[in-house]
Amino acid sequence: MSAYDFDLFVIGAGSGGVRAARMAASMGVKVAVTEDRYLGGTCVNVGCVPKKLFVYASHYKEEFNEATGFGWNVGARSFDWPTLRDRKNDEISRLNGIYRNLLVNSGCELLEGRGTLVDEHTVAVNGKQYTAERIIVATGGWPFVPDIKGKEHIISSNEVFFLEAFPKRAVVVGGGYIAVEFAGIFAGLGSETSLIYRGDLFLRGFDRDLREFVAQEVSKKHVDLKFNNNIESIEKQADGSLLLKLTDGTTHETDCVLYATGRVPKVDNLGLEALGIEQQKNGAIIVNESFQTNVPSVYAIGDVIDRVQLTPVALAEGMALVRHLYQEGNPAVDYDLIPTAVFCQPNIGTVGLSEEQARNQGKDIDVYRSEFRAMKHTMSGSEERTLMKMIVEKSTDKVLGVHMVGPDAGEIIQGLAVALKAGATKAVFDSTIGIHPTAAEEFVTMREPVKAD
Ligand code: NDP
Repeated sequence: MSAYDFDLFVIGAGSGGVRAARMAASMGVKVAVTEDRYLGGTCVNVGCVPKKLFVYASHYKEEFNEATGFGWNVGARSFDWPTLRDRKNDEISRLNGIYRNLLVNSGCELLEGRGTLVDEHTVAVNGKQYTAERIIVATGGWPFVPDIKGKEHIISSNEVFFLEAFPKRAVVVGGGYIAVEFAGIFAGLGSETSLIYRGDLFLRGFDRDLREFVAQEVSKKHVDLKFNNNIESIEKQADGSLLLKLTDGTTHETDCVLYATGRVPKVDNLGLEALGIEQQKNGAIIVNESFQTNVPSVYAIGDVIDRVQLTPVALAEGMALVRHLYQEGNPAVDYDLIPTAVFCQPNIGTVGLSEEQARNQGKDIDVYRSEFRAMKHTMSGSEERTLMKMIVEKSTDKVLGVHMVGPDAGEIIQGLAVALKAGATKAVFDSTIGIHPTAAEEFVTMREPVKAD
């Protein structure tokens, strides 16, 4: 019989923690999970899932307009925020219930409360101490908001999903995933929307061409882009509106300011310092290739280790770790060629190297590029355009990167990511028969490079 209460104690029931806990329990491991906020973590409650539901909602405005081009007379329309918010809340509650059942039915003991490390084999929850042979910290991340005058008037992605009233005017600060996604949501749902970004072009790290294209398309959808700018201070006015002082010397009036300026590991009051668990400057827990901290019985996975802040990566890390601990599998997660989508409007889907990354790595490349108006928009009246781009290594013919801006880009790129993982060459793409008429077929019919080294 084990000397511990549990074999495995997981702190945090988000994507990574739940997956690790369930998988271990299914192998006969005695598992406890503790969570003090909501089951499913950021992704289910204030991230991927509700965001995607809002993105769906925000597309209807333009779809109603486009429908007239196809003979539909749509009639009067109006948007009711409480209906969307509350139906979304109901759906998330349903998912919370599913997560609870999955955990309990897999045999995990769910302890609702804040888990704190007491020593290398002990976790305290609600004043009670539990021992475990191993502990996994999977506490995720938390929005980072810089200190500015009037910070108390700012909301983050934690609050935006539950707003009391939908703002007539909204400002989004930042140039990453959350900022561009919420700029599209606000604009689509009818807010007069501005996006303020401190650099010269948002979406740093993505292909430059793609970033410029997205800026052009997002502007067409009535998002006012303010680059090379930032908020200096926010002041609440008598009528409840917010007056922003910007670094370019101008002022801007709005009803809501959403900061999407990154996320930091959630490690406060976890007891890491007392155990001497090593952390990076931003708080991220340092782990080795087996997700083990410098305290051998304590492991960490997901956003709290700040490798790649994506749900599917946290899932992969959780599964790899559990296989390693209980099946003697290889703990390595392949971080190469992780596909990703940004649900801005139109969507971005991307996998592999951008043109700049390929050049910086000294690759000899051909660049294939296609830009067009999707077939639907020949009759919808929409001016939206689609961009597809492929980076090919000349010497090997290997496809190094595939990028798209357009409807369902994430759906299309997911399949192409498999091809890239399999090492597909341009010749393989060329010999693949297209599916007609689709946008995706463009990826197998790009004949001539637009740029060659
Ligand atoms: P990101 O790290 O993607 O972007 C943060 C943005 O905020 C950057 O543009 C950054 O500018 C800017 N910024 C940082 N600090 C400041 C500051 N002090 N003042 C002004 N601007 C600042 O973070 P997000 O919050 O958008 O998202 C967090 C993570 O969540 C993402 O990186 C992603 O991994 C994940 N996510 C994934 C989604 C998906 O898969 N679709 C959706 C949403 C989130 P600069 O570029 O100059 O550094």
